[in-house]
Amino acid sequence: HNGNGAASAAPFLRITGIDKHFGSFRALSNVTLDVQAGEFICFLGPSGCGKSTLLRIIAGLERQNAGMIHSLDQDISDLPPAQRQFGILFQSYALFPNLNVRENIVYGLRNRRMRSAEIDSRLNELIELIDLKGSEGKYPAQLSGGQQQRVALARAIAPSPRLLLLDEPLSALDAKVRVHLRQQIRDLQRRLGLTAIMVTHDQEEALSMADRVVAMRDGEVEQIGTPTEVYHTPRSLFVAGFVGKMNILPGRVGGGRLSIGSLSFAMPAFYDTPENQGEVIACLRPEQMRLKAAGAADALPARVMQLEFLGSFWRATLVVPALGDAEISVDLTSRDMADMPVAIGESVGVALPEDRFAVFPASQSGQVR
Ligand code: ATP
Repeated sequence: HNGNGAASAAPFLRITGIDKHFGSFRALSNVTLDVQAGEFICFLGPSGCGKSTLLRIIAGLERQNAGMIHSLDQDISDLPPAQRQFGILFQSYALFPNLNVRENIVYGLRNRRMRSAEIDSRLNELIELIDLKGSEGKYPAQLSGGQQQRVALARAIAPSPRLLLLDEPLSALDAKVRVHLRQQIRDLQRRLGLTAIMVTHDQEEALSMADRVVAMRDGEVEQIGTPTEVYHTPRSLFVAGFVGKMNILPGRVGGGRLSIGSLSFAMPAFYDTPENQGEVIACLRPEQMRLKAAGAADALPARVMQLEFLGSFWRATLVVPALGDAEISVDLTSRDMADMPVAIGESVGVALPEDRFAVFPASQSGQVR
């Protein structure tokens, strides 16, 4: 119930004030987070930020030092893993090598009192879902990495878990399989209406799969938001730099205006805070900048240092003398290149779109990775 006395649905999972220490090392501090039923959540952050520890605490495999976990209205903070009825999928497939596909998946149902007809129909359904019809009798060694991980996924979802926990499930697979399996997992999760939490250090994976991303750093949650929120309005320079490629420009804020070199812009409302005064860092994505002819009035003079063809676009690396020789990247579509071809060594102008800046105090500059 909320403060007004009206009924409000409890979230599917509520994590409140979780702390975790390993000796004197603080792996998690005051992590608070709600997960709604049916959501796909990604914990995103660099190695060591505590995302696996948080997942293990949710699973009940690790005990928090402080804080609580509720599922709907039930306090599950001290419930043993089996009683939480969560499914877990790890990076390593962890299949039994001496059991075939069918036996591996059935293993997930071993504690259920199910009739064998029920087990058979559940099994057939799962084999269909993971696209392995005809391979029921194969052993793990006869399957590719991607197929093994699909079997492990089927085993994890076989008992219809209330929550699916995925710890870097794709990181041992090669790039192409990974991208395909991303879609399969997401598709399956949607079709079965599962609630899922996935740990990843891969920002592209998080952006492409998550309903909401939980960006973590040094044991703390830095931002929770949809992929587009986290990408376009990062709340810290750390998140700005970790999620996608970001250009970092020195700037100044005064009188509600943002100056970058000789250019002046209205301060974006989202970042117009008391902390953003004086010396600041202004961030722009490479695809948000435009090239103009050298000497254009509304652009900063720059020189093209590098030009890379990346298939669907070109990435130009420029150096900007007016910004202390700052290096910036600008992405150009093939249409951009047709309209205004550029070459290494050329002088150009860089135009900055007024309404796309993310702005942070210069004191955060240590957070860039
Ligand atoms: P990675 O992707 O590398 O696994 P992570 O973000 O998942 O990183 P965690 O595995 O949660 O990070 O670990 C967070 C921190 O806690 C790390 O510095 C790690 O060394 C430490 N840690 C984790 N488990 C233990 C443990 N059992 N004993 C001591 N320190 C631990």
